[in-house]
Amino acid sequence: MSTPGYTGIAEGLTRVRERITAACTRSGRGPEDVRLVAACKTFDGDAVREAIACGQMAFGENYVQEAKAKWPALKADHPDTELHLIGPLQSNKAREAVALFDVIHSLDRPSLAKALSRQCEIQERHPVVFVQVNIGGEPQKSGVLPQDTDEFIEACRHLYGLNVTGLMCIPPAGEPSEPHFDLLAKIAARSGLTELSMGMSGDYAAAIEHGATYVRVGSAIFGNRSYPPRDQ
Ligand SMILES: *Cc1c(COP(=O)(O)O)cnc(C)c1O
Repeated sequence: MSTPGYTGIAEGLTRVRERITAACTRSGRGPEDVRLVAACKTFDGDAVREAIACGQMAFGENYVQEAKAKWPALKADHPDTELHLIGPLQSNKAREAVALFDVIHSLDRPSLAKALSRQCEIQERHPVVFVQVNIGGEPQKSGVLPQDTDEFIEACRHLYGLNVTGLMCIPPAGEPSEPHFDLLAKIAARSGLTELSMGMSGDYAAAIEHGATYVRVGSAIFGNRSYPPRDQ
C-alpha cells in the first residue's frame, strides 16, 4: 500500500515544510512559530536517520516500548534530536516516559499527573507537558473532556507541579477539524497556555491557520503505515 503521489522521506518533508510555510503566510504568522513533529511510529531507525539527514530534529512516538527500542541508538548519534510522546501513556510507564521523552503530549488524567510528577521529582527531569483534550467528547478517545480541562490544568500546575505549556487534541474523524481547533485554542487561552499541539497529515495546514504551534505529521512524511494510525 502506498500514499498516492508519495515519493519518499526527503520529498515528503520538503512538501510538508512548504505547506507549513504557506499556511503561516496565509495566517500572518512566521514559520518559526510552528514546530513540525515527525510522527514516526512503525518506521524504523533508518527512516528516522533519513529524516534527520534532511534537518528534521523533532520526532513523535506513540509507544514507550517502540521508543525504547529505537531511540537510545538514535540519541547517541544525534543528541540534539527532540523526542515527543504523542500516544496514550499508562501510569506504570511514567518512569520510562520521563527518562526518554523531552515532551509529553498526552497527559489526560489525575493518576497520570501524579505518576509523572513523582518521576520528575525522582529523576530531576522535567519534560514539557501538554494536556490532551478529548475535544469532540468521544467515548472511545483519550483526553480530558473540554468542560473539565480548566480544573485539570489548575491541578497539574499547583497540585502536581508539572511543566504544562499547552493543549493537544485529535479531532473526531469524518468531520471538519476547524471548530475543534478553535475550541482547543479558546480553552488554552483562558488558562494562559500558549502552545497548541494540533494538526496531522490530513489537517495540519488548517490547524496552523487556527493557531497550532506544534503539528504532528506522520504519513505525509514517511508514507503509509502498515497498521492503523490511531490507537486511541
Ligand atoms: C499517528 C499520529 C499522528 C500522525 O498521523 P498522520 O495522519 O500519519 O500524520 C499524529 N498524532 C498522533 C497522536 C498520532 O497517533
